[in-house]
Amino acid sequence: MRNLFFFLILLAIVPAFSQSKPRESLDPTVSEIWDLKPVKVTPGKNPGEAPSDAIIIFDGKDLSNFSALDGSAAKWDVKDGALTVTKGLGDIKTKKQFGDIQLHIEWRAPDVIVGEGQGRGNSGIFLQERYELQVLDSYESVTYSNGQAGSIYKQSIPLVNATRKPGEWQVYDVVYNAPVFSENGRVSAPAKITVLHNGVLIQNGTAIFGPTEYKGLPVYQSHGKASLKLQDHGNPVSFRNIWIREL
Ligand code: MG
Repeated sequence: MRNLFFFLILLAIVPAFSQSKPRESLDPTVSEIWDLKPVKVTPGKNPGEAPSDAIIIFDGKDLSNFSALDGSAAKWDVKDGALTVTKGLGDIKTKKQFGDIQLHIEWRAPDVIVGEGQGRGNSGIFLQERYELQVLDSYESVTYSNGQAGSIYKQSIPLVNATRKPGEWQVYDVVYNAPVFSENGRVSAPAKITVLHNGVLIQNGTAIFGPTEYKGLPVYQSHGKASLKLQDHGNPVSFRNIWIREL
């Protein structure tokens, strides 16, 4: 939006100078923007560390930024700087609600391999509580392609499989644009998601077709800001270093 604004200003200014003169004779300062500056952000010291304007969701210490789905305290296991899905306690979600975000999240499938396919190292990151970016041990495990790690579950296959071995930490860096709904509740712009998996592009501005459904096709329903949700799929998948920048 901001860039569009700048561009419109340029369009308004430049034609007055450009239409009647050859380009070589134009004043280059006319198309320079000096008054508006990007806000300064201090990046993390090392790759993956939160920049200065990030909201820290999980810093390795406690689940104070999460709750259970019914609003009660989140009770998943926290140990050695990581939180781990604790079977049977259900999904957890952030207390804060979000729209468009940049998300950094690290995850680890259990090093002891149990199960196959969707039963091996399954969890999930639900953007706005509805749209699942799949977490799964997809290193050497076969399942449907639009259900493997890095898929938008039951929708979009990742561009490549950049999965590390179970037991190794993995990174998702996500840019997510929330869907836009018109006043009648219809979706006017679908959600879009870009995902880097361990630094490798696996979703490239992928349109999300609607909320994640296990059966049948997704159908959008109008909503506002919503939590980031982590899935209890019964497997002890761990997460750490979770931070968000609101866009
Ligand atoms: Mg899942």
